[in-house]
Amino acid sequence: MKLLLPYRLLKHLHSEMRRAKRREIGGLLLGEHVGDDTFRLVDVTVQRSGGSSAHFLRDPAEHQPQLDEFFARTGADFTRYNYLGEWHSHPSFEPLPSLQDVDTMQGIVESAAVGVNFAVLIIARVGLIGKIQLSGTLFRPSWRPEGVQIVVESEPRSKHPIQVIVRWVKSLISG
Ligand SMILES: [Zn+2]
Repeated sequence: MKLLLPYRLLKHLHSEMRRAKRREIGGLLLGEHVGDDTFRLVDVTVQRSGGSSAHFLRDPAEHQPQLDEFFARTGADFTRYNYLGEWHSHPSFEPLPSLQDVDTMQGIVESAAVGVNFAVLIIARVGLIGKIQLSGTLFRPSWRPEGVQIVVESEPRSKHPIQVIVRWVKSLISG
């Protein structure tokens, strides 16, 4: 899967992570299906509370208004605009999914109540010199997690004050 990440959203994540300092924050990824296996991130929700330095717990109720607003704004065109997955920060760890993260995501895609057939997890952190480090991982029911190709889209004429390092997750399960 290829995930297009508009630069304005990268800036948004960057400022939220700087504000949260050593606390983990996170939220939902809301996206657009562009074609084949290409998606574009259209919006992210940010939950500033509920995280510690080593853990982030999402409170679904906090995200519902933003989710409703997103569906209203995109005309309830669910085949094109929909929930794409989750993101959270790892201020104190490598920006890669932990075993707990893998379990949580696998639980989401395998839950009949959630009713999705895939979900992406983005893990991000701000590195020592202000660079954003990111990884993207795709989860599907009964499938081994695989890396998502993240492509940052620039604003027209914008310089890149934030540098991005995308970490590739080839496979999370060895052996
Ligand atoms: Zn995590």
